[in-house]
Amino acid sequence: LPTVPLFGMNIHRLTLNEAAGAVLDWAAAPRGATCRYVVTPNVDHAVMYQENDALRRAYREASLVLADGAPIVAASRALGRPLPERVAGSDLAPRLFDLAKQKDGPLSVYLLGAAPGVAERAAANIERRWPAVRVAGWYSPPLGFEKNQAENDRILGLIADAQPDVLLVGLGAPKQELWVQRFAPLIEAKTALCIGATIDFLAG
Ligand code: UDP
Repeated sequence: LPTVPLFGMNIHRLTLNEAAGAVLDWAAAPRGATCRYVVTPNVDHAVMYQENDALRRAYREASLVLADGAPIVAASRALGRPLPERVAGSDLAPRLFDLAKQKDGPLSVYLLGAAPGVAERAAANIERRWPAVRVAGWYSPPLGFEKNQAENDRILGLIADAQPDVLLVGLGAPKQELWVQRFAPLIEAKTALCIGATIDFLAG
């Protein structure tokens, strides 16, 4: 897939539809040895990226890097390396759900992140609005969970039990990107989407 170099990141030159279609294709294929993941940089993330080695590594290993921010798209045009459009994480998840009816069988998703109660509300809204999407589970990890081995094991176990096609990870940046990169070989989902506050938006 073609990329555009911007601020040291290699951003994929895809429309929202193309990006959602790629995630759906991966969801329809067998799970690989390691979970693929998608990151959606905005300007704040691009600033963190400059001084965070771990975040740079996470981006290098991402299957898709998508421009979640009009300023990034504007910069791509000004620099003569135009991206087709903004692809926000908060638009990618609903567009993927729109496409789910093209898949044989339901698209199963697991929600990781957001405050207790919020992911549950998002799950109910998703299943009501998109009948082709099945929410296989949700979990709101406690503060500081990523430093707790038992808690990380527990989360990986919940995901393994649910076997989702897609894991939505809403833990904020850079925590979500670092967590997904660190555990990708152990995450039993086909693709993880690092999507910031999207679970909150889906909760309405
Ligand atoms: N969040 C979480 N656990 C944490 C930190 C944040 O679940 O330890 C959630 C928070 O509830 C919210 C999201 O992460 O749903 C924050 O997303 P936002 O897009 O505001 O963060 P950004 O990616 O811009 O840093």
